Amino acid sequence: GEMVEFDLAEVARIAASWVLRGMKQPVELQAELAPVKVRGRPGHVQQVVMNLVQNAVDAMGSGVIRMGLRAEGGMAVLRVADEGPGVPEALRASIFDPFFTTKPVGRGTGLGLSISHKIAEEHGGSLTLADTATGAEFLLSLPLEAS
Ligand code: ADP
Ligand code: MG
Repeated sequence: GEMVEFDLAEVARIAASWVLRGMKQPVELQAELAPVKVRGRPGHVQQVVMNLVQNAVDAMGSGVIRMGLRAEGGMAVLRVADEGPGVPEALRASIFDPFFTTKPVGRGTGLGLSISHKIAEEHGGSLTLADTATGAEFLLSLPLEAS
């Protein structure tokens, strides 16, 4: 896809609702998403957010997923946080590796975070795991559209 200007809030909302649509598990989405314009490939970014939300669902079973978006230091920062067990300290360095998964055979390819990390970097941004006391929190940073 082409590099275009788009609203990250809108893409994040669409991605989350796509993953959560028709889900039988009691997962609630609490999203505080005011519009933030970025430049990039919206289809790729949507894939990243879908990966993050699916991982949150897989980790929690049930609970609340919180999404927030802010503009800071030239970057848009999208936060996806869940109430699952979080990522064990010993695995933090491995989760972005291709084919790394803790899911049963057939349930996870281990490619979601590695592809998502690559997409973030191709945008001149980043995808990181935040250091939190509970749950898991991922931060996707993408350059703001220069105005
Ligand atoms: P997959 O989802 O196919 O396992 P990913 O690359 O998306 O592959 O994730 C790799 C691994 O990172 C997962 O198997 C899991 O161990 C860990 N992980 C990712 N997201 C979360 C999360 N929200 N909470 C806890 N662990 C997570
Ligand atoms: Mg995944």
